[in-house]
Amino acid sequence: MTDPAYDYDLFVIGAGSGGVRASRIAAGYGARVAVAEEYRVGGTCVIRGCVPKKLLVYGSHFAEELQDAANYGWTVEKMTFDWPTLRDAVAKDVDRLNAAYTNTLNSNKVEHFLERATITGPNSVKLASGREITAKYILVAVGAWPVMPEIEGVEHCITSNEVFHLESLPRRVVIAGAGYIALEFAGIFNALGSHVTVVNRSETILRGYDAALRDRLLQITMARGIEYKFNCGFERVEKQEDGSLLVFMKGQPDPLHADAVLVATGRRPKTDGLGLENAGIALGAHGEIVVDEGAQTSCPSIFAVGDVTNRVQLTPIAIREGHAFADRVFGGKDTRVSYDCIPSAVFSQPPLASVGLNEAQAREKLGSNVKIFTSDFRPMKNIFGHRPERGLYKLVVDAQTDKVLGVHLIGPDAPEVLQAAAIAVKAGLTKADFDATVALHPSMAEELVLMR
Ligand code: NDP
Repeated sequence: MTDPAYDYDLFVIGAGSGGVRASRIAAGYGARVAVAEEYRVGGTCVIRGCVPKKLLVYGSHFAEELQDAANYGWTVEKMTFDWPTLRDAVAKDVDRLNAAYTNTLNSNKVEHFLERATITGPNSVKLASGREITAKYILVAVGAWPVMPEIEGVEHCITSNEVFHLESLPRRVVIAGAGYIALEFAGIFNALGSHVTVVNRSETILRGYDAALRDRLLQITMARGIEYKFNCGFERVEKQEDGSLLVFMKGQPDPLHADAVLVATGRRPKTDGLGLENAGIALGAHGEIVVDEGAQTSCPSIFAVGDVTNRVQLTPIAIREGHAFADRVFGGKDTRVSYDCIPSAVFSQPPLASVGLNEAQAREKLGSNVKIFTSDFRPMKNIFGHRPERGLYKLVVDAQTDKVLGVHLIGPDAPEVLQAAAIAVKAGLTKADFDATVALHPSMAEELVLMR
């Protein structure tokens, strides 16, 4: 299979979720593979995304757990929190994963260059050090990058790249955007004791999720002290002599006072300066690499997977796309990625999770042939903790076929519950199948089979 006309059979640009998976699978099929990574092996998810974020979520949950501990008979003498301890422990775990991913490349005999690579032609790349390399196929898996507003003082703002490295815990945090990153970090900082203000251009949080879940999250987070400013945009950010920041918003006379300003208004494919024009690679309206169903770009020897294609910005999708690419090109298998029924979760506090059609989408598709089942319950843990917060589970069902089209959950551990429910939706099970399943008691998940 190897072609001696080229230095490598496959050259991968970007050692993130998609790139590492594609490299390892292609190498497993006997391809000679190299990967270039300009920062750290692991990519956004491992280095500055899902993994360190989830650890911060775990860390911040202790505030509530320790408060509840007294109800269970525990005496907690003195509750204090030290941000540098959590920050450094998380950074250490990121180092561990970085090493594990590097080992994966080594053990699969994938050569890696820790430097930037740019495309110089359909079968060639140039490393930052000047070395030119040829490859039969090139895979672009460079991910996406936070979008920054073009406003005065934007250099004083941080993104999800820097938030893991803050010197101290900010007393007041202003967050631009009301999507995944905004609400996850709003929850973390709020739980750790910071005052959080979320500023969004519309009055919608978490666009795309079921309206009932979004309303529930808004209610609970407001009750927990998070402030929201809707239909609002940043005008400029000013740094004060004491290091604090003033956030001026369009049409608002009074600025917000902040110690950190986090911009979380979406992520754009990181295609700038990659040399894509040297291979005639077509880009879409958002700077994304346009690919066909087989991840092939407009240049037949160059493929792209993951966030850089701006299809679904989720790690498991990048992994599947990378794996399917390697299967097809090097393994002789016609593996395809199914984009149907992709489960997703927001690790807000409480978290929410979802799969399939939400109520509005189902009604748009099926009109009145939609049945909705809900369970609005107070989790046992919240009752014992004297917290009024309620969970909400919702099933969207096709009234004609009885098929469950969507499952939408908000409440403690919702993502853990949803993953199993997603199997049922993907498999096309009916509401009768849910009803026929015996409840697992006592659990929150049992609500899924008790809705009538
Ligand atoms: P999101 O797309 O989730 O949210 C973007 C937010 O910014 C929205 O509230 C949107 O407002 C607002 N916005 C968008 N463009 C502008 C603009 N030009 N000016 C002002 N506001 C704007 O983006 P995130 O940055 O939070 O996350 C990026 C992606 O990363 C997500 O889409 C997701 O795929 C992925 N991710 C997934 C996670 C998970 O699976 N748990 C966690 C973190 C990230 P409006 O909706 O009102 O238009």
